[in-house]
Amino acid sequence: MDAMERAFHAVLLDQSTKDTLTGLGNRRTALEELQRRFDLSRRHHRPLSIIMCDLDHFKRINDTLGHLAGDQVLRDFGQRVINGLRTTDVAGRIGGEEFLLVLPETDLEGALLLAERLRAATGDSPFLLPSGALPVTCSLGVAERREEDRDGGSLMGRADGALYLAKRGGRNKVVADIAPR
Ligand code: GH3
Ligand code: MG
Ligand code: MG
Repeated sequence: MDAMERAFHAVLLDQSTKDTLTGLGNRRTALEELQRRFDLSRRHHRPLSIIMCDLDHFKRINDTLGHLAGDQVLRDFGQRVINGLRTTDVAGRIGGEEFLLVLPETDLEGALLLAERLRAATGDSPFLLPSGALPVTCSLGVAERREEDRDGGSLMGRADGALYLAKRGGRNKVVADIAPR
């Protein structure tokens, strides 16, 4: 391949694996990566945790400041996620304002630390928009892989349950999945 072909392929790869708004992985990449890390973690008996994160009252931002401001918040949030990750972590936008973080070699305690850091990095410093400074918060659910998890989907289901509790508990919160085994 010549340089131009290589550049062209790099662009195509980017477009098919990344979320164009945030630069994070897209939904398909994040879910594929989750399953791949899940299989590795089970095979090698290594810890794996995930974080599900959803921006709080995001609809309000769109409704009061407009869709472009909403997009700007998503971009800024994506950057805050990237700033907090290690090189082996994987982050993707799996829905409108919903994100999945896959953390290899990380137990529940370590994942809780990272989730709390992201909660603070979001909620503690307002987002700077053309209209002014805007406070934004997010809610996070955290779960560690267990022997009884069948696949990445089971793990996500438990993180999603924890996220739901964080929302119900008042938002701007981190909740760990500690359902009895
Ligand atoms: P909660 O705290 O319960 O999560 O409330 P919420 O308002 O964040 O949740 P809801 O699911 O009701 O609203 C999500 C909104 O996100 C609705 C949708 O219009 C908006 N949205 C989804 N994708 C995008 C996007 O790419 N850009 C923008 N600007 N908005 C988006
Ligand atoms: Mg939301
Ligand atoms: Mg949502």
